[in-house]
Amino acid sequence: MAEDAEDGELHELSRISAIRLSQLNAFYAEHGTKKPCSICGKTNWVVVGSEFQPAPIKLSAYDRGEAFGLVFMLTCSTCGDARFTNAANVLSWIEAEENNERQ
Ligand SMILES: [Zn+2]
Repeated sequence: MAEDAEDGELHELSRISAIRLSQLNAFYAEHGTKKPCSICGKTNWVVVGSEFQPAPIKLSAYDRGEAFGLVFMLTCSTCGDARFTNAANVLSWIEAEENNERQ
């Protein structure tokens, strides 16, 4: 059972790691994630990652053992504020979009 959970986690991690920047930007556009920065009011958002591939970032809670979450991060290049989006939500949205296209 624990092995199944681990396999599931690895499978999800590999799917999240395969998300392309264009897919993440489509998610952001659909959900309004790049609305003006709440600190400085600018919209100079930078996605953490490479030119084509956003970098999933692992967040761990000290008091929750092995539990962790994966997020994608936007930083405001004007003031440095940051926005995090749960990578599991992005993955679900992309997979639902792909299923819709197939039908
Ligand atoms: Zn800002």
